[in-house]
Amino acid sequence: MAASAAARTIIENCAIATVDANDTEYASGYVVVAGNRIESIGAGRAPEGLENVVRRIDGTGHLVTPGLVNTHHHFYQWITRGLATDHNLFNWLVALYPTWARIDEAMVKAAAQGSLAMMARGGVTTAMDHHYVFPQGSGDLSGAIIGAASDMGVRFTLARGSMDRSEKDGGLPPDFAVETLEGALAATEETVKKHHDASFDAMTQVAVAPCSPFSVSTELLKQGAELARRLGVRLHTHGSETVEEEQFCKELFGMGPTDYFESTGWLGSDVWMAHCVHMNDSDIAAFARTGTGVAHCPSSNARLAAGIARVPDMLAAGVPVGLGVDGTASNESGELHTELRNALLINRLGAHREAALNARQALRLGTYGGAQVLGRADQIGSLEAGKLADLVMWKIDGIGHSTIADPVTAIVFGAAAPVTLSLVNGKPVVEDNRLITVDEDAVARDARAEAQRLARIVAQG
Ligand SMILES: [Zn+2]
Repeated sequence: MAASAAARTIIENCAIATVDANDTEYASGYVVVAGNRIESIGAGRAPEGLENVVRRIDGTGHLVTPGLVNTHHHFYQWITRGLATDHNLFNWLVALYPTWARIDEAMVKAAAQGSLAMMARGGVTTAMDHHYVFPQGSGDLSGAIIGAASDMGVRFTLARGSMDRSEKDGGLPPDFAVETLEGALAATEETVKKHHDASFDAMTQVAVAPCSPFSVSTELLKQGAELARRLGVRLHTHGSETVEEEQFCKELFGMGPTDYFESTGWLGSDVWMAHCVHMNDSDIAAFARTGTGVAHCPSSNARLAAGIARVPDMLAAGVPVGLGVDGTASNESGELHTELRNALLINRLGAHREAALNARQALRLGTYGGAQVLGRADQIGSLEAGKLADLVMWKIDGIGHSTIADPVTAIVFGAAAPVTLSLVNGKPVVEDNRLITVDEDAVARDARAEAQRLARIVAQG
């Protein structure tokens, strides 16, 4: 459909933070959405005389920003929240793998719906799921996850994960929870071919995503990188999360995680890694030189006592950085607003103190930075004419925010602001702080039923 014939939605009288290259903001401005694109944006009232306007929204008392972009998550963990609450990463993994190894398609679907609903109602318009547990006979887990995202109406990247280093090879997962090298590669290729859409306005993309250096073989990393580059898709994994991982890499491979990744083809502008907490200056320089992206997950890093990622140093070096909720077994909140706020607050506890990050940098991490690490910065992540219409109207004139001096400060430093409207690809997903694409109460009920079913199966052994 040509833009001139597309249905138009006009939002006006709102504060706007575009998060474009100049951080352009309007104290009172407008956005015109035509079809699935932003047609125009600016200060003051929308242009007169536009045709085919199907909706005109008074944004008084609101801040409009790009939709939030989540860059690291494990949806299945929605049904294993609140367990092993006082463990570090390795002990937490060992405690939870026997439960995770029992998941099936119905559980994964309900967990995906719960994870997606929590994020979408909090302003996430692009979600991702790094799914790496594929027990034998568990059904079409990738299809269930992608279906849940499509039903919710959010833009989505599935990072098709895998594990092939189990207990018998010195890894942490139980033997029956992993795939073979050949099986993992074949299933990943099939998922890319079936679901990945490379077009500008794609709603579903797929990345190649072996789980972590300590749960996959060197060969799976190497061949996974070759597969991704042959298919033209991105690569994702966990990296440099804890001191224990660093020790593991040094003992097993004779080098730290970043050098190990470089030796297996895992640094590059088509790669993004979760965490990157334990990085020295040369690691950060290697990420900057190669354009490797980072998914910063401050709440999960705090819960698992992993440490504080050096985000100000990464940004200063030019490393692309986005935010990640991480799985909700290590971040029960499951909403991205917490990560904007914690990125800002936790980094101020590090070496740079109050100069670490400001509210606008935190908003940029959660929007444009996320789009960069997902390889979609040309399409989403900022509000600019021609980009896709993924945006959020935050209500900032209510009790939580009406006395905070500045709109961006209000949504980052303040409580999670109610979402009056979110658009994904030009279509409403949230209206008046409720999801309109799915029944939130039914999602909550189904997820609880599946969590209880999983707990029963585990209890029965
Ligand atoms: Zn993770």
